[in-house]
Amino acid sequence: MSETSYVFPPPSVPAASVRGGGRYPVRRIFCVGRNYLEHAREMDLGADVREPPFYFTKFAVALTPSGSRIAYPPGTENFHYEMELVVALGAPAFEVAPGDALACVYGYACGLDMTRRDLQAKAREKSRPWDLSKSFEQSAVLSEIVPASLIGHPARGTITLAVNGTVRQRADIADMIWSVPEIVANLSRFYHLGPGDLIYTGTPAGVGAVRPGDRLEGSIEGVGTIEAVIVEPQ
Ligand code: MN
Repeated sequence: MSETSYVFPPPSVPAASVRGGGRYPVRRIFCVGRNYLEHAREMDLGADVREPPFYFTKFAVALTPSGSRIAYPPGTENFHYEMELVVALGAPAFEVAPGDALACVYGYACGLDMTRRDLQAKAREKSRPWDLSKSFEQSAVLSEIVPASLIGHPARGTITLAVNGTVRQRADIADMIWSVPEIVANLSRFYHLGPGDLIYTGTPAGVGAVRPGDRLEGSIEGVGTIEAVIVEPQ
């Protein structure tokens, strides 16, 4: 075997379906930690809207398409959904101004930021990293990506999440503390963003726990829908 050969076949590139055809290869998954005032209050994350956004990340391999069966993850007894608007970048963005940020956006999707809430609470309490609570297998559920060339750049529209047919989250993406251009601009101060980078933009109030057998159905007006079913641990 030559020095340049892989010692095992390289894993396939995580990718999402694109409306109209093609696949969007995912490089990195960024998430905004607090972007709706009512959710910040319910989570006691602090409600100072003047405070800059903060972020965490998920493995790209946590990506799971809408319609999947999500195995209840190990190590938690409080597994939560968070319905979110997701931004998919299509061009390099580094230290961009908010006014230039949307030109770097390829499209939008519906996302579920699945969370081990009990582990997140413990991490917050001890000022430890959020990785175990946020970045794990099947934790980044994603609908098809809709190109901005088809729908523009939605700045308002109802975002909802229902569990077994009962609406649990209902808000408007216009209620985000930090808008999409502001998030892209801010995050681009810390990373050389580019094609393949997803940004989950935060969840509204109404997060809650799910159990095996539960069906999640989300929607964002003007963007699309997402669904998943929670199944027994595997
Ligand atoms: Mn979230």
